[in-house]
Parts: sequence; structure tokens; C-alpha cells
Amino acid sequence: MQQIPILENYLAGQWQKSTKDFELLKDASTGENIAQASVVGINIESAFSYARENSSILRNLTFHERARALKALALHLLSKKENFYNISFKTGATKVDSWIDIEGGIGNLFIMSSLGRRNLPDKKFIVDGQLEQLSKNGTFKGLHLLTTKKGVALHINAFNFPIWGMLEKLAVNFLAGMPAIIKPATSTSFLTEFVVKEIIKSNILPKGSLQLICGRSYNLMDFVDYQDVITFTGSATTGQKLKTHPNVIKNSVPFNLEADSLNCSILGEDVKESDPEFEIFIKEVVKEMTVKCGQKCTAIRRIIIPENMIELVSEKINSKLQKNTIGDPRTEGVRMGPLASLEQKEDVLKNIKLLQNEATLLSESNFNILSGDKEKGAFINPTLFLQENPLQAKEVHQTEAFGPVSTLLPYKNRDEAIQLANLGKGSLAGSIVSADNEFITEVVLETACNHGRMVLINKDNAKENTGHGSPLPQLVHGGPGRAGGGEEMGGLRGVYHYMQRSALQGHPETLTHLTEQFHDGACEITPPVHPFKLHYQELKIGYTHTTHKRTITEYDIVQFANVSWDHFYAHTDTTSLEGTIFKERVAHGYFILAAAAGLFVDPPKGPVIANYGLDEFRFTKPVYAGATIYVKLTVKEKVDQEVKESDELQIPRGVVKWLVQVFDFNDDELVATGTVLTLVKKL
Ligand code: NAP
Repeated sequence: MQQIPILENYLAGQWQKSTKDFELLKDASTGENIAQASVVGINIESAFSYARENSSILRNLTFHERARALKALALHLLSKKENFYNISFKTGATKVDSWIDIEGGIGNLFIMSSLGRRNLPDKKFIVDGQLEQLSKNGTFKGLHLLTTKKGVALHINAFNFPIWGMLEKLAVNFLAGMPAIIKPATSTSFLTEFVVKEIIKSNILPKGSLQLICGRSYNLMDFVDYQDVITFTGSATTGQKLKTHPNVIKNSVPFNLEADSLNCSILGEDVKESDPEFEIFIKEVVKEMTVKCGQKCTAIRRIIIPENMIELVSEKINSKLQKNTIGDPRTEGVRMGPLASLEQKEDVLKNIKLLQNEATLLSESNFNILSGDKEKGAFINPTLFLQENPLQAKEVHQTEAFGPVSTLLPYKNRDEAIQLANLGKGSLAGSIVSADNEFITEVVLETACNHGRMVLINKDNAKENTGHGSPLPQLVHGGPGRAGGGEEMGGLRGVYHYMQRSALQGHPETLTHLTEQFHDGACEITPPVHPFKLHYQELKIGYTHTTHKRTITEYDIVQFANVSWDHFYAHTDTTSLEGTIFKERVAHGYFILAAAAGLFVDPPKGPVIANYGLDEFRFTKPVYAGATIYVKLTVKEKVDQEVKESDELQIPRGVVKWLVQVFDFNDDELVATGTVLTLVKKL
């Protein structure tokens, strides 16, 4: 008899196998035994201590170094993707479903890598927000600092996306600098294990940054501590049980819960059968019912439509569902595979029964499969219900059948559509298909507090929108209430979940030293030469160049109006100043900015390659003809820049952010301030 492969756990730097009490994992289409899993006899606690002991290796890398590792990992996994597809079919996933799991997961690595390199400093901490003035004389200021937690990110994942579920979380905790322990759902853990083997083999990730548990390890909560972060995706029952574990409560361990969600899609009251939005809506609903056999946490469970559309919508959905071909995803022409396991099928059938107690079945119950084993495989037919009194109904707003199951909920007016959407009591995703922006605006403002994400679809974004069900790494994924109250991804917002935000209060000089960013009130250092003569590495934070002076004349203002064609009355028409904030003809703000550059720039060719832009600029006091101004130019922050192969300019360089302060010489009052960015050559 052929030996069934035993899944391994990657713990404390070694692949480890249990020797007993195995659970058989089966091919979702054929029921064939494909792997066996167990954690009996495996020292799970050692994974936690190993991660903590080695956590400084990852933490001591900068965000850019971690981001580059993520990109290298993404490229490596992409080169192996065909192997992943072959295994993914065994989970019941079609090519399209697997694409979401495999390439969608890898996409998360790419995007987090890019966000990390573009939007985070090449440092190990983040300054969050603006400096706060806490005292009259400016010797005591406050800011917020984010530093990496010194614990473990424990990810307990659901069965439906064995790769994406791991990578979307790993990308974020890794960028934040925290090691991870991944515990995939046992039923599809053979695919996660296969990918983790590739990751470990690649040697790209630092020691201790990724560990894997395959099998039913239910004592994980005993080992967590206050510096750890737990993320959980799965059923509300398990999630709530783990979230309220005494050890989690005692140590205030952050617990991100993502659970069942009764997502809705609303067809606008404006949409008629002949409108492109109608067809878009039908396609979206059918896609959400059938992709991944409806096993998407964001899938549309409640279809909210105007009541005069019931017949039309049900007919169109059913006619499309009839073209849906079911079978083993390895067979050509199969559009929908089975559920992930027979246990899931049992669960879905139980919930269909609950829904059927209150609703009318509109779809066919009999179905054929193109291939696979109808008994041993977890096949199921898409099921469409109609709930005629949706405001009175209970089950449809509380029972999630985690399969290709959806219910039509008719509404009489806009107010009812809003009420129905909100009856889900907290969802991951909602969508509105309508050409009426006024309808969309009202519905969003009245229902957004119940949704983690809302997709607004019309004919103009039909081709490019990413669809109702796709969480994106740049945008928040999670939802209130029933959906668990969690929030993950969301670009850099997700990274912050693995970091501690601390308020720091101190002298601006201390805060400048600590954050490596100049804060007003800190010591200004006179550079040895004009700072434009210095290379990137030679520029010190706090180097301040004070310029010579310039008197602004009426002629300057008239000339600037002519050169720029900016003839706004305040610069050109002294008869219109009555009742305005200006006492005399005022200099253009842009002229003050240009004049400031004229004062602070060092003209000869040197290490400064180019002006890169402005971060912000404020004109704080009007400047009239006769005023004399001078400028202070201070090195505020330095950001290293990678030279990419595609760069036209193959010059090693960094971005230097300069604090520009323009003063009135008569009273030393600030008249304008902002941040100017330049590209500066390295030595
Ligand atoms: P589940 O039974 O709650 O399992 C989720 C995860 O928790 C699995 O990794 C599971 O491991 C683990 N787990 C279960 N009991 C545990 C315990 N006592 N200690 C530690 N870990 C434990 O959910 P599921 O069967 O995967 O999915 C069922 C439902 O989850 C679906 O029907 C759907 O409603 C919901 N779901 C929600 C989302 C979402 O993003 N919101 C996504 C997918 C699924 P084992 O597999 O080893 O038991």
C-alpha cells in the first residue's frame, strides 16, 4: 500500500514529524487520502520561545531591508507557482480560485514590499503624525513613536485560502519586524506546508521569522504573552472562544478576529434591465456565488434588490448558474470545484436547511458533475433563495452558509435597502451597483459603519474594478460586529498593528536626536560650507544655513504678476482691498517661495541633483512691498533611495528634506514655512 505523506511542522529551526494519532486529509474532489497530520508529541511551546529568542534578528533589519526580503521571496515563490497550482487543485480550487490564493498571496508580498520601500523610512521605527507643541516657549514637545513589539505574530487561519491567508498576514508582520507562527486550518494545511517548504528552502527569511504548525494544536493560547499579536480567521464560535481565553485576557494580548460575515450587494433603485449596471450586477452575484465554491469570507450572501426586479433578477441569475459546470478542477471545462471537505459540505447543508425554513428555494437541487466522485467528493450545487419578507426574517441575517448559497432580499424603497444592509450586523464587504451617485452616497453614509469595505460599481469602472469579493493589501480588510471587529491589511495601517505606539514628551533637541528628524526648537548646527555643497552622507540633521536678505519691492510684485500671469486682485488692484485681510498690495505666496529659493540655493553644479518637490507649504503672514525677508534652510530628514535597474539616472542618491523658514527681517516673524525635497548625490 502506498505510504500517505506525513505533514511536517517547522518549529525551532527544524522540520519535525509526529509519529502518532494522525488525521487523514483528503482530496476534495475524489476523497483520496493525500496526507496525514498530527501535532501529538510535538513541542509547540518551543516555537514561541524560539521566535522570541531570535526575534531581534528580524527586528534589527530596517523596513527597507525587510521590504527587499519580501520582494525576493515574492519573486522566488512566483518562479515555483506551477507546483503550487498542482497541489491547490486537491483542495477543490479551480485554476481561477487557485490564482486568487497563489498569485493573490504573492501579490501581497510585492505590494507590502513596495509600500515599505516607498512609504517607510530606512529605519526600525516610525514617527507617527505631527509634533505637538506642549509648552509656551517650545522647550517641551510631544510626538508618537511606533516600535516593533518583541513578541510573536500567531496567525490561526481558515481553510479556504491556504496560501493567501498565510502570505497576506506574513507580509505585514514581517515588514513590521515581528516573527510569525502560522497555524493553517488542518484540512488544507498540506498546501500551506508545501509552500512553507519552498520558503524555508529559499533561505530568504532570517532565522526564526517563520514557523509552521500543521495539525490540530488547540493549546496555542496557553503560550501567548503580552508582546504577541494573534490574528484569527475562521468561525465566530472558535474565534470568540480563543479571544476570551483566560491567558489572552490576563495578558491583554491583541486579538484580531475575522469571522462569519453576511455580506450584501445592493442593486440601485435607478437600475433598469437595459442599463449596463444590471448585467454587471448579475455577473458579480454569480461570480461571488461560484468562485471558490462560495467559500470566500467576503462572498455575497444577501442580494438586496428593488422588489419589482425579483422575477427578472432570479431568472437571470438562475440562467447563468445553469451554465456553471461542476467537477474536479483538474478537468477541462470545470468552472466550480467542490467545497474543501466533506465536513464543510455537511456544515453548508445544515445551514441551507436553516435558511430554507424561512425562504423559498429558487434554484435547482439536482446537479451533475463533469468529473470527480459525487459521494466521496464535497460537491454541492449553487443554491439561490428568495426571502419575501426580509425585514421580518431572521435566519438570512444570521446564518452564513459558507458555500455557493445566496438569498434575494427585495426592498420597497431606499430606506428599506439601508435597513436590510444593516441587518447583517457587521460585514466584511458590501457593494452597491448603481449609476446614481446620490443613491450611492446616501446608502454608503447610512451603512458604512456596518461594513469594513464597500465597493461602488457602475458602468464606468466595470472593466477595471476589482470586484465585490477581493480584499486588497492597500485597503482595510475586516469588519465590525458579526465579522469579528477586526482590521488587517490596509497598507501601512496593518503594519502598525504589530508595533507599539508610544507618546514621547521631551525637549525638541532630544526628540530630534531620537527620531533622526529635525524638530523646530532643536539646536541648529552651522555647516562647514553651504549645505548644497555637501553630499548625502555629509549632511547632518540640524545643519542650518541662514541666508542673506532681500527687500521685496512693488516692482517685484508687478513683475511676478506679469511673468506668472497670476493677476489676482490682491497683487494687482489696490482699489479692491477694502474689507479684505490685506492692507496693501501683497506679494504672491509663490513669489515668496521662489524668492526664498533664490536666497537659499547655491547656484554652481554640486551634489544636489534636482528639486524633488514640496511636502507642504504655508504662508503665515502677508508680505508687502518694502518688507525685507531672509531664509533659514535646515536639514530636516534624510531618506535613502534605491537605484533601480530601470532608473534612467544610475547615480547613488538620497532624498533630503529641508525645512524652509522665511522670516520678516524687521520683527523676525515667520512669513512662510514648508518642506522642500531635493535629490542629493552620495559620495
Ligand atoms: P474554525 O473551525 O473556526 O477554524 C479556524 C481555525 O481555527 C483553523 O485553523 C482551526 O484549526 C483553528 N482552531 C479551531 N479550534 C481551535 C482551538 N481550540 N485552538 C486553536 N485553533 C483552533 O473555522 P473553519 O472550519 O476553518 O471555517 C469555518 C467557518 O469560518 C466558515 O464556515 C466561515 O463561516 C468562517 N470563515 C470566515 C472567514 C473570514 O475571513 N471571516 C474565512 C474563512 C472562514 P483546525 O483546522 O486544525 O481545527
